Amino acid sequence: MNKTSKLHMTTKEFREAGYKVIDWIADYYDQIEDYPVFPKVKPGDVRSSLPTQPPVSSRKYDEILKDMDILMPGITHWQSPNFHAFFPCATSGPAILGDLISTGLGVNGMNWVTSPSTTELESHVLDWLVDMLELPKKFKTSSTGGGVLQDTASSSSLVALIAAREKASNGEINDSGYNQKLTVYTSSQAHSSIEKAVKIAGIGKNNLRLVDVDESFAMDPNHLKELILSDIEQGLQPAYVCATVGTTSSTAIDPVDKIGPICKEFGIWLHVDAAMAGPAALCPEYRFINNGVEFADSYTFNPHKWMLTSFDCSVFYISKRESLVDALSIMPEYLKNTATESQQVFDFRDWGIPLGRRFRALKLWQVINYYGIEGLQEYIKGNMINTERVKSWIEKNSNFEIVAPVPLTLICFRHKKGDDFNQKLLRRMNDSGKMYMTHTILKGQYVIRFSIGTATTNLDHLKSTWNCIEKYASELENN
Ligand code: PLP
Repeated sequence: MNKTSKLHMTTKEFREAGYKVIDWIADYYDQIEDYPVFPKVKPGDVRSSLPTQPPVSSRKYDEILKDMDILMPGITHWQSPNFHAFFPCATSGPAILGDLISTGLGVNGMNWVTSPSTTELESHVLDWLVDMLELPKKFKTSSTGGGVLQDTASSSSLVALIAAREKASNGEINDSGYNQKLTVYTSSQAHSSIEKAVKIAGIGKNNLRLVDVDESFAMDPNHLKELILSDIEQGLQPAYVCATVGTTSSTAIDPVDKIGPICKEFGIWLHVDAAMAGPAALCPEYRFINNGVEFADSYTFNPHKWMLTSFDCSVFYISKRESLVDALSIMPEYLKNTATESQQVFDFRDWGIPLGRRFRALKLWQVINYYGIEGLQEYIKGNMINTERVKSWIEKNSNFEIVAPVPLTLICFRHKKGDDFNQKLLRRMNDSGKMYMTHTILKGQYVIRFSIGTATTNLDHLKSTWNCIEKYASELENN
């Protein structure tokens, strides 16, 4: 982009088109409730509406923007007030604008020297967040640790596993390949990203142990210890435990305060995956979710889920940053520079998998500045209060039951008429276009997940969603 180019968009054209794009996004949010939350397209519908050939000559930006009309019928409206599927991916004005500026700057923060503010803002904001969430001080850069942004919690847990693998094998696996002796532990309710990390890191799925859970779907520490002892007896080497604070199926909270001492006793890396639940700790009254986190070697949560920061943005903390750098550092000639040699800077290429890195910290920084701690707390508390209300409506209808504890903002409920009925009910709910929810299986039963947290949702939306569910259920009952 420059002032006079014939080939590129000029700054004047960019300004004009940019205003239109911002208007387009604002209009979208004004009208978001008019769209069916879950799109009514069949596989292939979207592609068949697209031009078969790319344009040979340049098109006007207005026409390109108009092409959004082709795509909108196939968009799932994650920011709709009636989106209650999976976990939220809550965004906000400052996050969208921060991301826009980041893209506008077009920097690549692979090393400190490639854009010093990119690295330093990231360290600074992540140090702020340690205080905001009252996490252990060892995660701060002023201590032995530090924070870094990854794209997703899947990457954070993988990076933690690679660091744990190298620590357990004294760097042997990086040097010589697999040793097939390391074992990994997580609960049967942990996110699938842990199994994926085990595969990618070359630990091998057969060396992943799934620990039993208790009645509340939280990891049973006694079973964890039994599995560890049995593996040691067989000459294996326990290397990594992943505890989940807020499981995907039901937001169960593993007892990290009991798991931590076991990891310490056997010298095993403890990683805590709080992908969704982490931001609850912004409010002092919900900091119980982090009981025992002082034992953790690494910790992750996603501001892109429940902290109003557009996808993608996953915070990753490590208590000893040298373990991460030892595991992932590379130094080809073309990346050498005096700042790195001075050892006074962090080069985040050594703190994750990719070399190139977006300026994600900017949107996070803008979100924290725009809302302030109080605004973020209000958002979290508001979600908790709304969840309590929805829970009370479900409890009032004796045809339904809530099948798991509700520590945060996810309600797992089902109609008492059984699995087939619940599957039909969920299909009816999603086909209506008025809401989108997903399901899980808990104790062998089909369960509907009502997940709350999108920034556009208020109590009226929730009430009319619940009224619809009751109506659809009684229609199905009478059929
Ligand atoms: N961990 C937990 C507990 C999750 O619930 C999820 C996603 O919902 C993930 C990890 C994966 O998150 P991401 O999409 O950021 O990799």
